[in-house]
Amino acid sequence: MTDSPRIHLGALLRSSSDDAHARGTLDHLQYEQGDTQQVLRFAQPAPFEVSVNALGSHEMYLQGTFEPVLVMECARCLREVPVPLTLRLGSLMRYEPSVNTPFLEEADSGEEVLVFGAPELDLSAYLAESALLAAPLSVLHDDACKGLCQVCGHDLNGGPCEHSAQVPVEAIDDDLGTPEGSLHAKQNPFAALADLKVPEE
Ligand SMILES: [Zn+2]
Ligand SMILES: [Zn+2]
Repeated sequence: MTDSPRIHLGALLRSSSDDAHARGTLDHLQYEQGDTQQVLRFAQPAPFEVSVNALGSHEMYLQGTFEPVLVMECARCLREVPVPLTLRLGSLMRYEPSVNTPFLEEADSGEEVLVFGAPELDLSAYLAESALLAAPLSVLHDDACKGLCQVCGHDLNGGPCEHSAQVPVEAIDDDLGTPEGSLHAKQNPFAALADLKVPEE
């Protein structure tokens, strides 16, 4: 298992004749986002393979593959759902010695450029961002997931609870189809007050 995915670009930066390669497997990625440490865990060891070719003096092109199985939550019942991804990586890169933490920058062409400053490049943030961009916004553990009771939180996949008879089935379906945020807004008693028109004086 690889601790953090690194690729050594020193030789490439000196001669630009060779390619650089790196491969390994990851059970998680630890990376910085802003000032906070983030951890992205995978359901099983995730293989990656990366090669970098020189394009010019300080520019290069990274390509490779990354096949993580993300752990996401079912949008209705919150149980963990493995989400396998097959990523094809392809990014321009630019070496700028003054850069401390590698970052993605949007070029004039709209392409993303990975800017880095150390010849030993840590790919953690790059791989994590690539995986998160490719992940679906929400997943269901099963298309027929019945979700949780909105009153008591009971997992309705295991059978009805005492509240099931009180909520019309249509209403349940509608609520389950809305994202979590709007569901909360609907349940928030103050949300209704916000709609009240206060007569102006
Ligand atoms: Zn579910
Ligand atoms: Zn209930």
